[in-house]
Amino acid sequence: MSTNNQPPPAFHPASAPDYLPLPQLRDLQLQRLRAIVTRAYERVDLFRKRMDEHGMRPGDLKSLDDVTRLPFTVKTDLRDTYPFGLFASPMREVVRLHASSGTTGKPIVVAYTQDDINVWSSVMMRSFAACGLHAGDIIQNAYGYGLFTGGLGAHYGAEALGATVIPISGGNTERQIMVMKDFGVTAICCTPSYFIHLIERAGELGIEMKKLPLRAGVFGAEPWTEGMRKHIEANSAVKAFDIYGLSEIIGPGVGIECQYQAGLHIFEDHFLVEIVDPETDKPLPGGTEGELVLTTLSKNAMPIIRYRTHDITAIVPEQCACGRTIRRIRRIGRRSDDMFIIRGVNVFPSQIETALLAVEGTLPHYQIVLTRSKGLDNMEVQVEVTAEVFTDKISSLEGLQKKLSVAIERVINIRADVRLVEPHTIPRSEGKAKRVSDQRKM
Ligand SMILES: [Zn+2]
Repeated sequence: MSTNNQPPPAFHPASAPDYLPLPQLRDLQLQRLRAIVTRAYERVDLFRKRMDEHGMRPGDLKSLDDVTRLPFTVKTDLRDTYPFGLFASPMREVVRLHASSGTTGKPIVVAYTQDDINVWSSVMMRSFAACGLHAGDIIQNAYGYGLFTGGLGAHYGAEALGATVIPISGGNTERQIMVMKDFGVTAICCTPSYFIHLIERAGELGIEMKKLPLRAGVFGAEPWTEGMRKHIEANSAVKAFDIYGLSEIIGPGVGIECQYQAGLHIFEDHFLVEIVDPETDKPLPGGTEGELVLTTLSKNAMPIIRYRTHDITAIVPEQCACGRTIRRIRRIGRRSDDMFIIRGVNVFPSQIETALLAVEGTLPHYQIVLTRSKGLDNMEVQVEVTAEVFTDKISSLEGLQKKLSVAIERVINIRADVRLVEPHTIPRSEGKAKRVSDQRKM
């Protein structure tokens, strides 16, 4: 929860669908689910084949719960049908293509009709409105423009809101800071790790972030913890909002935190949420942690049914204090696929981050290095400490090192070597931070 104590902003008309009465929302979802499943069945070979294998017809969907009878879609389906195999619209109706950067093999390609772009703009506009932004705000969009969905997704939403957009894209940190200061920027979109880098660089240039008009940050594209939020909010005047999205579903704008920063509201009129047990694939009840599964309810060019996101979260069963009826999911701290195994223990980078940031004197820059020698796995956690700590006596450094080691062991139950490094030692990323370097030979 934020420590900023601002009054909630005035209601924005774009947010009206966030407050639909529940029976109306569920009716709308069912109607849209039936239409999208019919569309996918009629137009996408892979989906029709899977439905036939399941002995299902689109007409079998009698209630929203029936969604659990539909086949899943996984990332490899998008790769295997590269580039256009999952499209449900003819090319002449497709007005935009995006693609993932994909570290290995072929990228995944996603398509939008003009209606799809309009939906995307509207959910991004509702995202900004939930953060209290409106016409008159000056939004610096430091998400990458190009094939990545982040840049253009945020761009169109911000324009639809009536805000002034600065399409600066990622990189060139000093220019980012100059623009932020000279243009009177009030909100920024980027990865949280990059914003922390901006705060540091501004400090070095003698610019005090807290004195700038910048008051909101829309941060996403990588998992981040409450510790990082605290750091950002303590070192700038920014209220830090977590935004969620993925290209396979639409891009940014699937969900966002409201002023209460207590979970991410999912735009349920366009995205159907399920939580499943990642091992058994069985649906889990509200409040239980599992893998997030999403179905697009209104995307024409590329309907995606029951997409396995690998993101681990839970539905928050209670209604939010903001009054929105659309449900929330808990912040995503980990993905089932960024887990690594060391000495037989499953570890997520976010667990290490939480342990590190709970200890005074550390900075949110760290890297986990995994090595193997003589058949034994070893984990070293390199973490930057503040300049004050580093110039201190050696004995206090040793004390801090020990404290961190204990904090990590308490969370993951295995010992890690902690190495304290000077500020700016860990490489900075202009996009997603790379937390784990696995140097073990497979
Ligand atoms: Zn809320």
